[in-house]
Amino acid sequence: MAKGRVDIDVDRCKGCELCREACPQNVLALADDLNGKGYRPVILLDPLHDCTGCALCAVVCPDGCITVYRDVPQKTPKKEPVLNGKSLSLAV
Ligand code: SF4
Ligand code: SF4
Repeated sequence: MAKGRVDIDVDRCKGCELCREACPQNVLALADDLNGKGYRPVILLDPLHDCTGCALCAVVCPDGCITVYRDVPQKTPKKEPVLNGKSLSLAV
């Protein structure tokens, strides 16, 4: 499964918890401390790296406070077939 992480703009977050309710991995939590607007912002609490980067949290946030990053697995290049040390690729 893909791995992801989120950056939350805690200064703009108003603690509405819509993102928490939407997160299927349950890795978002309210901070103990208040932000500059007097709200408890949402933070990522993901010690086991369960965030999949699904971006549901970012989609539902009415204030665009969440940026999602998702790891994209690198594709390994295809190996050309070789016979007796010579490539079997057809010349065009
Ligand atoms: S990207 Fe998905 S799994 Fe990660 S915090 Fe947001 S809703 Fe949860
Ligand atoms: S949906 Fe947006 S504003 Fe609401 S708690 Fe989450 S990050 Fe904060």
